[in-house]
Amino acid sequence: MSANADDLIKPFLTGLIRRNPGESEFHQAVQEVARDVLPFEAEHSRYHDAHIFERMTEPDRVVIFRVSWEDDAGNVRVNRGTRVQFNNAIGPYKGGLRFHPTVTLSVLKFLGFEQTFKNSLTTLPMGGAKGGANCNPRGKSDREVMRFCQAFMSELFRHIGKDVDVPAGDIGVGAREVAYLYGQYKRLRNEFTGTITGKGLAFGGSLIRTEATGYGCVYFARDMLAHVGEGLEGKTCVVSGSGNVAQYTAEKLIQLGAKVVTLSDSSGFIYDPDGLDEDKLEYVIDLKTVRRGRISEYAEKFGCEFHADKRPWGVPCDAAFPSATQNEIDKDDAEGLVKNGCQLVAEGANMPTTLAGIEIFQRGGLLYAPSKAANAGGVAVSGLEQTQNALRLSWTREEVDRHLNEIMSKIHQQCVEWGQNGDRVDYVKGANIAGYVKVADAMLAYGII
Ligand code: NDP
Repeated sequence: MSANADDLIKPFLTGLIRRNPGESEFHQAVQEVARDVLPFEAEHSRYHDAHIFERMTEPDRVVIFRVSWEDDAGNVRVNRGTRVQFNNAIGPYKGGLRFHPTVTLSVLKFLGFEQTFKNSLTTLPMGGAKGGANCNPRGKSDREVMRFCQAFMSELFRHIGKDVDVPAGDIGVGAREVAYLYGQYKRLRNEFTGTITGKGLAFGGSLIRTEATGYGCVYFARDMLAHVGEGLEGKTCVVSGSGNVAQYTAEKLIQLGAKVVTLSDSSGFIYDPDGLDEDKLEYVIDLKTVRRGRISEYAEKFGCEFHADKRPWGVPCDAAFPSATQNEIDKDDAEGLVKNGCQLVAEGANMPTTLAGIEIFQRGGLLYAPSKAANAGGVAVSGLEQTQNALRLSWTREEVDRHLNEIMSKIHQQCVEWGQNGDRVDYVKGANIAGYVKVADAMLAYGII
């Protein structure tokens, strides 16, 4: 970073940290964008004079509410629900709900901030938001999850709507939770509209939505490789996580002839040097979404290694697809990947790489796709679900997949356009500036609000 850029960023971050104390994930997400956007604003006075980036770091509003419910043993339980409506300059708020014990205001603000840029990149009219609760569905009965979701929606319904704010799933919020949430919304509002996405196919869901984030991430990786005259076939790939994003990243990689050798969950990772195939993946999907078991069971079933409490980044690979959670690749992990010859990193999870890790990737010359570009396929197909709901019709798998492919290619093109740096593409800069410009132009047009 040049001294000049540093001079711009330091005072900005000092102010941000003062206004948002203790919110380390939010500081990190803003810092990653500020490194590109503040120098860009300095060169474009219309944005700079209107304080656009400063305004973009302040959410439009945050709603925090109590979620009281009863567990199967008759105990009263209390959680905290939150919805961060970050920015609706280019469309109704849109972003997932996360149910996980690590959910804090800082985590939801980082996710809502990132979502604003990501949604802008999709080229669809969607603003940025995120929400959730500090609750863990794991280990709870279906009835407990249902009562929790109903209690959560009994407050959230006041703040959302098809033209206002359209939530979706995220960590801990899959098909089951979305169905309970939407059922309660529909009951309270007495309307059947596309106010939540990721719905079941029987009640307004879109084909390919389940697969979209993982498939989209692999399409983006394919486009990055194609840009340098290569392909995914025969590449050894390390994937983390074993939830929605990891499952469909693995599926598409296998379909395109790559070899997936790892998956993980919060208790460790499996290493299968023979690679996953369709049957093994079917086992994983059943294990994680139906039986809700642990990834270690895969190692027992297929006789491969399980590394407890470890992450998979030490396994030699050509490409890495972090698909579990934030900050799962630190500086040491990034150095290990570079040293082992990894050529490409495409982020399925949101902000899985620390700032120090990103610098290692950039200095190492890897093809590195940040999450706001690489995992935008999920929200893009959510946007297509909204369109289908509004039109009251359903598109075929092929149609949705074609749209997804086109959208991921358009995101790639925008990254190339804004991130070209000599004979290389800086995908971080490309995604940050392309995502920023569209939102910034809308905010400028509205005047000072
Ligand atoms: P899931 O809940 O389906 O799966 C999450 C996976 O990550 C599980 O394997 C889980 O392990 C693991 N995990 C979660 N938290 C941690 C942690 N603190 N440490 C280690 N492992 C952890 O979520 P998704 O697959 O939907 O989401 C994964 C990532 O992708 C998130 O960052 C999410 O924000 C992002 N994303 C998701 C989209 C979507 O469409 N679903 C869209 C765009 C981004 P365990 O089972 O042990 O909890």
